[in-house]
Amino acid sequence: MRAQSWQLSGELTRVAAESLELTLELLADMKGMATPTLSRFEQPGSDLWRVDIFFADRPSETFVEELLDKTGLDRWRYECRPVAERDWVSESQKLLAPVRAGRFLVFGAHDADKADASLINLQIDAGQAFGTGKHETTAACLVLLEQTAENRSPANFLDLGTGSGVLAIAANKLWPEARGTATDIDPIAIDVAEQNCRINHTPIRAFEAPAGGVALATADGLEKSELVAEGPYELVVANILAGPLIEMAEAITAAVADNGAMILSGLLNTQKEEVLAAYMPLGLKLEAAETSGEWVALKLLKSPK
Ligand code: SAH
Repeated sequence: MRAQSWQLSGELTRVAAESLELTLELLADMKGMATPTLSRFEQPGSDLWRVDIFFADRPSETFVEELLDKTGLDRWRYECRPVAERDWVSESQKLLAPVRAGRFLVFGAHDADKADASLINLQIDAGQAFGTGKHETTAACLVLLEQTAENRSPANFLDLGTGSGVLAIAANKLWPEARGTATDIDPIAIDVAEQNCRINHTPIRAFEAPAGGVALATADGLEKSELVAEGPYELVVANILAGPLIEMAEAITAAVADNGAMILSGLLNTQKEEVLAAYMPLGLKLEAAETSGEWVALKLLKSPK
């Protein structure tokens, strides 16, 4: 029988969650055990982060005590319990099904035969990169990209945080002549995006090459000279998260051409005003918003100063 995995969960401030992660690594290392996985994420409408530590089997009380003691969290209220069984079959089927967004159809390799000649087909194999291309935030971007194509034909575009490459590939299908650029902070995503470009016949171009297609680069935000040199961009699409979008507001805005467009996604409905408050003072106007469940994607236009 497989060992039952266990999960220790609770809420912490971001700083406490970070020190817990560090202590966990150090302690596991000291004890010569594999570091249990810790995941932490911001919770909408709260200052506290949700933290989950996953153990391959039941953690000993002494280990947990020592961990919390060393982190100064001996009074933390946490829960420790066996990981709930989930209905993996139906969940994976849900994830696997093709998704329609506007004129786009997104599917994995196993559904390649579902391609529909009347639609724009995107075969996305996520590998280890984020996203099968079917997340609500991605679908909302696809809809806004298609809307953008109704009255714009950008000469160049940037997909910031490309993940599987889905949005850059979609933009290339809409504007095959445009000079595309796709970046991600994660080098694995860039490898996956490259493979997906190949599968979808999106040409991979070199930086500075004035050809249609997509140039790929690993970078944190816009911190790479090639990315600045390729700009200013007539279209930037960034499906990241509200936090980084707000942090990068100035850098992203500076990379957009006057009268250019920006599609921002990865934010919850409740974060919309906050994100707009970061961008409007920089000269951007809200042109459209696409809601999908609790998520919203924004299309903004940059007016010349
Ligand atoms: N564009 C894809 C993936 C979105 S997930 C889609 O729409 O489905 C967000 C991606 O942003 C992840 O791949 C993550 O690695 C990347 N990312 C996060 N912070 C970043 C940063 N500062 N600079 C560049 N990429 C970043």
